[in-house]
Amino acid sequence: MAHLSAMPDLETEPIQLWGTGPDYDDIFRMSLMELKREGRYRVFQEHRRLVGEFPLSVAVSDKGESTVTVWCSNDYLNMGQHGEVRAAMKQAVDTFGAGAGGTRNISGNHSPIVALERELAALHGKEAALVFGCGYLANLATLATLGQLLPDCVIVSDELNHASMIQGIKASRAEKRIFLHNDLLHLEEILRSIPKSRCKVVAFESVYSMDGDIAPIADIVEICERYGAMAYLDEVHAVGMYGATGAGVAERDGIGSRVGLVQGTLAKAFGVIGGYIAGSAVMVDAIRSHANGFIFTSALPPPVAEAALASVRHLRASGSARAALHENVRKLRSLLRQARIPFLDGPSHIVPVMVGDPVRCKAVSDLLIERHAIYVQPINYPTVPRGTERLRITTSPAHTDAMAEALVAALSECWRDLRLPLAADGI
Ligand SMILES: *Cc1c(COP(=O)(O)O)cnc(C)c1O
Repeated sequence: MAHLSAMPDLETEPIQLWGTGPDYDDIFRMSLMELKREGRYRVFQEHRRLVGEFPLSVAVSDKGESTVTVWCSNDYLNMGQHGEVRAAMKQAVDTFGAGAGGTRNISGNHSPIVALERELAALHGKEAALVFGCGYLANLATLATLGQLLPDCVIVSDELNHASMIQGIKASRAEKRIFLHNDLLHLEEILRSIPKSRCKVVAFESVYSMDGDIAPIADIVEICERYGAMAYLDEVHAVGMYGATGAGVAERDGIGSRVGLVQGTLAKAFGVIGGYIAGSAVMVDAIRSHANGFIFTSALPPPVAEAALASVRHLRASGSARAALHENVRKLRSLLRQARIPFLDGPSHIVPVMVGDPVRCKAVSDLLIERHAIYVQPINYPTVPRGTERLRITTSPAHTDAMAEALVAALSECWRDLRLPLAADGI
């Protein structure tokens, strides 16, 4: 084992990995120092989410462990801990084992994932659905493939679209045009300027996850129809959450059938992991057959597919968690308004409390967890534009009125101690 004895003694000798070339680690160090200088170096809060305790969780740090109330989970309905979901996953482990055993093409096309795709197609009233490793990959792989498959395609993208869509559009190398956020006139102006004969995809979201606003889907779809464009709708923050069966805002607004392609995640309201698209059988077949991000990666494991399937089925059949959540959102907004804590007052379940500075945003978050046992992660650039740093607050059916009152009281104290500006009267 000559190579082992040649290893440097880690205690005494610095490891000289790079020979005489550039000092790569120094470059990495500088990039991190830049983030720290700007106050937007990301610190992940370790915590233990314990079944039955939601929305409480055990925060773990150098200082020890403490129970905190979580106000920033995307497991909006606590489906990740739901009894039916856990039972489905456990049973699947013992029935099918841990892994898928391959890509979908090579031995990984197991029955639970096939059943899940059928369920998702039915959820959205589409002919077919296709499951990916995560929602990010679903957007990336699908948009990249659409832009390559559709000849002379232009992808028209809302300026606030998620990073996964932006990456997909880039990877497609199709021409990209950006319309102002939710701006119908601008969208129409762009579509009007593109020759009728060209393929056009309009990519947008229903619920924008950082501002909590909702796109005028019916109007966008109507414009798409007028200009012969295909509507590509990311319903990641809406699936499980809106509509009679939890298919999203398009279902709520009664226009699901007019959206050409819907994309969603199994990791937020559905509480598990995985992403998907749903649409016409022939389109889904084309994506299945051409998308690298689908073809060259192993399938989701059977227990994950079974857990997601149980979650989707539960939220299709029952709207009670949805209703309870939206009621809690309404109460939280009302408390924030009374306390004059500045927040973006939108129509969705997402409540962005605005700080407007990365250092102070982190400071509020630190105070909340240290003094008040409340966990809300600060959201900084590049997730949101600079100067709009915020605490993105999400509630759930399990958050009690007392928890909401404690949150708002704690925010008020932070606002006072850090001398942050309160919202003007009447906002
Ligand atoms: C989280 C998110 C995704 C990615 O979904 P994952 O399943 O978490 O990979 C895609 N689009 C939007 C708008 C998101 O917020």
